[in-house]
Parts: sequence; structure tokens; C-alpha cells
Amino acid sequence: MTRAIDSLDKLLAPVDPAKPQGAVWLVGAGPGDVELLTVKALRLLQRAEVVVYDRLVSEAVMAEVPESALCIDVGKQPGQHGLKQAQINKLLVDLARSGRNVIRLKGGDPFIFGRGGEEMVSLQAAGIRCEVVPGITAAVGCAAASGIPLTHRDCAQSLRLITGHGRRGEPQLDAAALSAVNQTLVFYMGLSWSASISAQLQAQGRDPETPVAIIEKGTRPDQRVLITTLGGLAETVARDQPVSPSLLVVGEVVRFYRADLQVRSGKPVSRCAVQERSA
Ligand code: SAH
Repeated sequence: MTRAIDSLDKLLAPVDPAKPQGAVWLVGAGPGDVELLTVKALRLLQRAEVVVYDRLVSEAVMAEVPESALCIDVGKQPGQHGLKQAQINKLLVDLARSGRNVIRLKGGDPFIFGRGGEEMVSLQAAGIRCEVVPGITAAVGCAAASGIPLTHRDCAQSLRLITGHGRRGEPQLDAAALSAVNQTLVFYMGLSWSASISAQLQAQGRDPETPVAIIEKGTRPDQRVLITTLGGLAETVARDQPVSPSLLVVGEVVRFYRADLQVRSGKPVSRCAVQERSA
């Protein structure tokens, strides 16, 4: 279910100085499975008046929003542009100024690669009350749904969340930080740059046999997990063509991957080279 409003102007009542200003809640929608919403997020959604959401929010989560609510899709498809960030910031301010209480619903957690910080600062600058409700970020949700522990005393003492998409496209990875051993790396937005990520990590001395999981549509009914290695990453992406949203998990913890957790997907895992080797 996607509900979009054509004319945003229709929503924006003229500012009435006698009417109290609305507030904005920056709410994390989690990675997709509706049961991973926080109780607070669910309560807010179920009595929402206006919901401003983007493409990462799953249909299952949107189904919790009452029919009476106005739902505004400001989503971006990869490679295309929805509303620009400045327009979204302005929309939130205008809605609150016209007396509306607004749920700004974002996939995962609003403060992890979600530009929630920018929206919060803009609201604060406009003097609008802004509250933040955290959500389960994709790394945490995808890890749980595939049995991959992000840290493990034996092989991963730290975890790094990285954007796989630089400001101008190709990421320039922080070489020294990424070459650390016993560290799990999780790349958000990394799918289209996976060949570059793989090459940069290997150039920093990461073993090409390091296991990698590509988790596509994590926690959703059609979740798919592709297991490969750093050296084989580009080939796996070219062959199996995972689509957005997908997360890359790099590190020894990927060996713990459990195919049996894929009960909800009904889809087979396409390759499991790492498990075969370690068996
Ligand atoms: N704020 C979000 C991340 C936004 S960046 C969060 O905390 O999760 C968008 C990226 O998140 C996607 O390109 C993808 O890499 C990742 N992502 C979000 N949801 C996902 C899901 N269900 N499965 C796999 N990756 C996901």
C-alpha cells in the first residue's frame, strides 16, 4: 500500500498565530518486519495525523497507520530523486507551523545514515519541538534474521558501520581503520560500489577469503542472503543481482550464518561457499 499526496500545498493550512504549533517525531521504522517496531513507534503510528515517510519503510509498517492519516511519500529510489533534503526539511517545518503533529518515519534508525540529524537541526533552528524514537537499524535487524552475530569474542571485537556510497558516488574508505583485524564491517548503501569496496579492502591487506554476506531485504518475507568472499564479491553481485535495500557484512562472523532462519522467505540461498569450506 502506497499512499501519496499529489499536492503538498493542500496539506498546508495558512499559519494561524492563535493555533498552537505542531511537533515532529523522528521515528525509526526498523528494517521491515513490523514486529521489530518499538512499542513507542507503534503507538505513535497508530494515532498518527500526518506521516512523512520514505521508500525504506515497509508496507507492513505503513499498514499500521490509520486510513484517516495523511501519508506523504518523500522517498527516493536509488539513482532517482524524490524531494531534495532541503525540501523535506522545509515540508516538516511548514507542516508543524500549520499546527500539525507530524510523524517523520524513516527506515531503520533515524540517526544511522538516515539524515535524521539534519532534519532535527533544521526543526530546532525553526523553534519546532522535535522528538526522536530510535529504531532497529538494518545491521542489527539483518544480523538477527540471518544468525550472524555482529561481534563475537573469538573473532570480532569491534563493529564498524560504514556508508558504501561517498558524497560524490564511489566511497573513499578510511584505509587504516578498515584494515584492522577482528572487526566486523557493515556497509550500508554499498551494493552499487561493491567491486570498489572489495578492491579497496584487499588493497589494505584484507584476505580475499574473508567471508561476506549480502543481505537483501533483511527481515522481510522475501529476505535473501548470498554468502561469498571478499575476492568473489563482485562476481556474486554480477551473477545473483541482489537489489536494494541490501547490506554487506564483511568479517569472520559471517561463518555463523544460519540458512535455517530463513523460514519466512521460502527462497533458497544461492551460494554457500564459506560454509562448505568450513564444514
Ligand atoms: N536509517 C537506516 C539506513 C538508511 S541508509 C537504518 O538505520 O537502517 C539505506 C541503506 O540501509 C540501504 O541502502 C541498505 O544498505 C540498508 N538497509 C535498510 N534496510 C534494509 C533491509 N531491510 N535489508 C538490507 N539492507 C537494508
